[in-house]
Amino acid sequence: MKTVFQHLTRRDFIRYLMAGSISVPLLMEGLAQNLMAQEPTPKRPIIWLKGQASDNHNVGFWNLPEFPGFLEKFFEVIPRSAVNKDISELDDSDIATSHILILEGLFTNDPDDPLNSLIKDLIVVSRVVILLGNEAAYGNRAPEGFMDLEGNLLYHVETPYLKLPGAPVPARHLLGMLNHLVLFGLPKLDAFRRPEALYKTTICDRCEYRGDFEAGRFVRFHGEKEGCLYLLGCKGPVTKNSCPVEKWNGTSNWCVGAGSPCTGCSEPDYPDHHGLGMFGQLSSDDAAINSFFVRHLDTIAKGTAVVAAAGIATHAFSKRAASPLKGQRLPILEDDDE
Ligand code: SF4
Ligand code: SF4
Repeated sequence: MKTVFQHLTRRDFIRYLMAGSISVPLLMEGLAQNLMAQEPTPKRPIIWLKGQASDNHNVGFWNLPEFPGFLEKFFEVIPRSAVNKDISELDDSDIATSHILILEGLFTNDPDDPLNSLIKDLIVVSRVVILLGNEAAYGNRAPEGFMDLEGNLLYHVETPYLKLPGAPVPARHLLGMLNHLVLFGLPKLDAFRRPEALYKTTICDRCEYRGDFEAGRFVRFHGEKEGCLYLLGCKGPVTKNSCPVEKWNGTSNWCVGAGSPCTGCSEPDYPDHHGLGMFGQLSSDDAAINSFFVRHLDTIAKGTAVVAAAGIATHAFSKRAASPLKGQRLPILEDDDE
């Protein structure tokens, strides 16, 4: 069966991924095609170690019951019990076929803990390391007694690594990156080592309420009709993720669409955001937005929002029309550097 994946360039793949237009089933099909085309190449080994985590990343996988079976069919998912004995057996010295290491959650920094030393050894012989979820990706915020995987370990070895942060991480992000690693190698990363294809564009730039944001049409309390949630502390202006186009695990809605501000869950400062908290309003400077309304609403946010907003907002709301952008996808930024 031929599909677009057989002739897909890296540039096209990145564009599809950024646009959210490759579905999870298509990603799985594309990855399967590529792996089958390489037979009798052995299945790609993956070692997936879970530490202490909220397990919320599994939400995406619960929505995708065929995902574990898919992984086991085309990859060799090596159980932890098999890697305790002799790590050198896992690596055939060909770096192109050595294992992908996925680390999810928090891991103890107790050097006497077997898992601690196992991770240190595994990182050195891995083809690439994926830090899955916020606990692993932003280990500089790890509580006492747990490792900062990046600062303590990965900074000091040559093994390439990337981060897939978020709460939760959509299954599509992991599948997209496995596809990229198998098809094209390591993806282009941003300053936080997140794949640019997934974390290049701010939430605001592709939000259906961006027009309301620019025009000063804000909702003032939870549950008040539809509109921009900036005054309720939405972190969309400073959060880079693909949620507005990807929705929740390929379904039909997402945080802002459901009336909840973006809490910036994929950013390193989540959840306190320099003291603002998940629902504290960004200043116009922090938001780096030139909207006239946002700049003049800065004083509103300090606790008396409703009263102070009335003068500006009443007029705006009374004349409010549906945003011309509502329900539409904003243009996808080009991957200029490709
Ligand atoms: S502030 Fe939030 S609701 Fe408003 S446009 Fe940006 S992402 Fe959308
Ligand atoms: S919209 Fe914001 S809070 Fe919601 S999943 Fe996306 S990045 Fe996280």
